[in-house]
Amino acid sequence: MTVSFVHDSPGTDVAALKRSIANKLVFAIGKDPISAQQRDWLNATFLAVRDRLIERWMRTTRAQYSQDVKRVYYLSMEFLIGRALTNALLALGLYDEVRGALDELGMDYNELVELEPDAALGNGGLGRLAACFLDSMATLALPGYGYGIRYDYGMFKQRIIDGNQVETPDYWLAYGYPWEFARPEVQYLVRFGGRLQEENHRTRWIETHDVFAQAHDQIIPGYDTTATNTLRLWSARASNEINLTKFNQGDYFAAVEDKNLSENVSRVLYPDDSTYGGKELRLRQEYFFTSASLQDIIRRFRQTDDDFSKFPDKVSIHLNDTHPVLAIPELMRILVDEYEVPWDDAWDITQKTFSYTNHTLMQEALETWAVDLVGRVLPRHMKLIFEINERFLDDTRAHHKGDTELIRRISLIDESGERRVRMAWLAVVASHKINGVSALHSELMVQSIFKDFAELFPGRFNNKTNGITPRRWLAQANPSLSGVIDRYIGKTWRGNLDELAELREHIDFPAFTKAIADAKFENKRRLALHIARKLGGVVDPHSLFDVQVKRIHEYKRQLLNVLHVITRYNRILKHPEKDVVPRVVIFAGKAASAYKMAKTIIKLINDVGRKINNDPNVGDKLKVVFIPNYGVSLAELIIPAADLSEQISLAGTEASGTGNMKFALNGALTIGTLDGANVEIKEAVGDENIFIFGNTTPQVEALRAQGYNPRKYYDEDEELREVLNMLASGVFSPDDPERYRTIFDVLVNWGDHYQLLADYRSYVDTQDKVDALYRKQDAWTRAAAINIASMGPFSSDRTIREYAEDIWNVKPVKL
Ligand SMILES: *Cc1c(COP(=O)(O)O)cnc(C)c1O
Repeated sequence: MTVSFVHDSPGTDVAALKRSIANKLVFAIGKDPISAQQRDWLNATFLAVRDRLIERWMRTTRAQYSQDVKRVYYLSMEFLIGRALTNALLALGLYDEVRGALDELGMDYNELVELEPDAALGNGGLGRLAACFLDSMATLALPGYGYGIRYDYGMFKQRIIDGNQVETPDYWLAYGYPWEFARPEVQYLVRFGGRLQEENHRTRWIETHDVFAQAHDQIIPGYDTTATNTLRLWSARASNEINLTKFNQGDYFAAVEDKNLSENVSRVLYPDDSTYGGKELRLRQEYFFTSASLQDIIRRFRQTDDDFSKFPDKVSIHLNDTHPVLAIPELMRILVDEYEVPWDDAWDITQKTFSYTNHTLMQEALETWAVDLVGRVLPRHMKLIFEINERFLDDTRAHHKGDTELIRRISLIDESGERRVRMAWLAVVASHKINGVSALHSELMVQSIFKDFAELFPGRFNNKTNGITPRRWLAQANPSLSGVIDRYIGKTWRGNLDELAELREHIDFPAFTKAIADAKFENKRRLALHIARKLGGVVDPHSLFDVQVKRIHEYKRQLLNVLHVITRYNRILKHPEKDVVPRVVIFAGKAASAYKMAKTIIKLINDVGRKINNDPNVGDKLKVVFIPNYGVSLAELIIPAADLSEQISLAGTEASGTGNMKFALNGALTIGTLDGANVEIKEAVGDENIFIFGNTTPQVEALRAQGYNPRKYYDEDEELREVLNMLASGVFSPDDPERYRTIFDVLVNWGDHYQLLADYRSYVDTQDKVDALYRKQDAWTRAAAINIASMGPFSSDRTIREYAEDIWNVKPVKL
């Protein structure tokens, strides 16, 4: 092309930004500044900032093509991104300039930022990990794409009414989402149902019901680099907008009904990431986005290559848990049915392309699908899975003659009872690498659920300890602490978190520890203000802020925390003369809408809070607060204000945790079990700077094996017995004394599955040690500073570097 093409590179000083925002308001939003609302100004700012990213984005994409790079595709059902504006400003280095521009326009940056809705397209840790990984891939200039679903409704909004969780829909797109580019021209047909027809050795999949997947792109800026990446999310569009026959017959409602039904596939995020219900719509969602993503990946590959044997040299596809596992039979289908690649070649390509991360060892959370259902919704894929299984089992039989038990265990189809497809087994058989997410989890993984496979394929299993992005979780969330760190070691830790180790040199200087303590106090005041505004409760920022924020789940043991709170309450009432360390115990987190026990725990926290907070004998010695609607933005407010981080899951149940890393990075001390990444955090910070309690994984297993008897602890520990009796007798629920009877029974009479009672004494005694250290403020702050200084290895940049080298074999693009 020789036509001249010119465009204006947008300027980045305050004057240029000011003009840009004003232009966007007028020409893109169409609002007169006289009548523009704050949200209009926010959207105008968004557009102005987005403009500053686009040239980088195009340059990165061009460089990827011209260097013919290998790309990695991260397939995830969830991306818990949170807000985008501040993050983009940080990446661009335009924070002060945009603030200044808005200031000159008479707008308050802080107020505008609060209006941005969280993109909450995820439940918890798994979705947030995907978001941190996108940030790190871009920052490391790795050619990485995220692929997922653009849910119309993300994670529900949680309100607390009378102490109960009430879910309301998350209308995150209500005011538009100027951060994304709709790509109506990028759409793929995704097929469901129908039947198979055999035709001279080829299988044809016919009479399907089709839906279009339409792309929406978001720019993922890298930090301190011009590299940017893309998150492509799929939205469902009916394949025939309107049923014309019905329309012409005047049946207008029926004419659009089909459209609504097929578009339901991207309507709403399943608000449950732990246990799994067999919902057909969920299966459709999983296939919908994996099929669209694979078609897109193959289209991009074929722009430069037509030899599929090169596919694994150009494409790496990563499966974030088993939710995208249908990508495996989908790739086989496309290769074998559409491109007529011979089976063995197609299988070789598939295995070299896929890798898989396991996120849980809990039996009840492992995903399986009824063969009947898969056969009905995806008949071709069911047949392919059978064939993959048959070949795999034949192969194994050849080497393990007569071991029918082994075959039964490793079959992709669970034949005990209703036949079901074991998605994790399929992922393992089809992937060249399978990783766990912490050292402990990866070790347990090959000893428990994947034991047989680890013996069959020893080279496939590896560990990649999770990480978090320091940009969002320190620089953005905690400006006061970031300022202190900048003054002592400069600013480059944002791109190289290992530099935090340099803080250790300053630890013996009171000016440094005082600055750390002051930053913490400022963050506690900021949170206390939020609590006062939202909940009307007054908390004193001089108290110890003891924080447990995460999804509400029995294995995470919020209940154990509550047992400690009640213990403390009883001690305060019994010994009013005693000088205690004042505490504010803060909870936040959502319960899956169908998870009754989790909802009862929320109610209990609020009931216990009401009783304690209104007891004049307690005063400031103890407060209990439940902050509603936990999400990324709230995490950014709460975590920097924590003194104590509660990571108290039963040993062997939390695969890694990432909340634990965010807290330690922000200078909270951890009280935790030897579970997930807590083990590695302990090794990094040193035994004297963390509070470890409770049984280890082998002890938990031994207890279970010998017949765990929780009642023993109830009988033998007087303080514990008193607490449990208070629950059972309705001390916290005078309006309904039976309300917590079930909790009592679950713990004392019905087996206490998560062994709270076994760890209670150790937990409560360790909490006393927390108090003792908190009384020595200098020693506490020193330990907090050591925690901060030790968090280098928990940067998601480290994690992603390891994935890139050991699993994906992708290299940074040169810019
Ligand atoms: C980090 C994070 C999580 C994960 O927390 P865990 O304590 O590891 O379970 C969940 N939700 C949000 C919003 C987060 O930021």
